[in-house]
Amino acid sequence: MLMITERLAPFLGTVVGATSRPLSFKQFENGTVLIGGGVRGVVDTVRHVAETRLDGLAENADTVVSLFPFMQDARIMRTWAGVEAVMQDQIPVIGLSSQHDNVIHAFGFSAHGYQLGPITGEIVADLAMEREPKLPITPFSIQRFQTPCPA
Ligand SMILES: Cc1cc2nc3c(=O)[nH]c(=O)nc-3n(C[C@H](O)[C@H](O)[C@H](O)COP(=O)(O)OP(=O)(O)OC[C@H]3O[C@@H](n4cnc5c(N)ncnc54)[C@H](O)[C@@H]3O)c2cc1C
Repeated sequence: MLMITERLAPFLGTVVGATSRPLSFKQFENGTVLIGGGVRGVVDTVRHVAETRLDGLAENADTVVSLFPFMQDARIMRTWAGVEAVMQDQIPVIGLSSQHDNVIHAFGFSAHGYQLGPITGEIVADLAMEREPKLPITPFSIQRFQTPCPA
């Protein structure tokens, strides 16, 4: 889930996270402040949509106010929730299919798909052009989930 505030005077030039509780806190150039950090909403797996959960948003807002007390008066303009794919080991799958020719995997970005988008694009382009990717991608292979055949 995410929340976004009204426009505030500039006060923050970097993204702030917390170690003991979920928080991602950043101010955009237009002054609005984005508050998130992985607090989860409710997912409707049939309709593939997510809905916000007020108690989770309130907890997230409490964290913000405890670290930045002046945020107590900031008004929240919008809240929303999204659905994303999370792998068991929190590491995406990037690489060639082990089952089919001409299939390239790039999924399961586990909360980091925006950051990983540019490098993933480069890797997928290299694989599509049958070039060796510039960085090692073995740890991202789909094969890490293949269970060994019973003896
Ligand atoms: C609230 C929130 C905040 C986030 N913040 C960050 C952040 O700050 N930084 C960051 O790096 N990442 C963040 N993420 C994670 C990021 O959004 C995802 O990792 C990224 O969007 C994954 O990209 P994707 O293309 O793999 O999957 P998606 O973006 O999920 O795209 C998959 C697409 O496939 C479509 N689809 C699904 N099934 C079918 C089907 N059967 N047929 C056709 N189409 C189908 C879906 O509709 C969707 O458009 C955030 C996610 C959420 C929910």
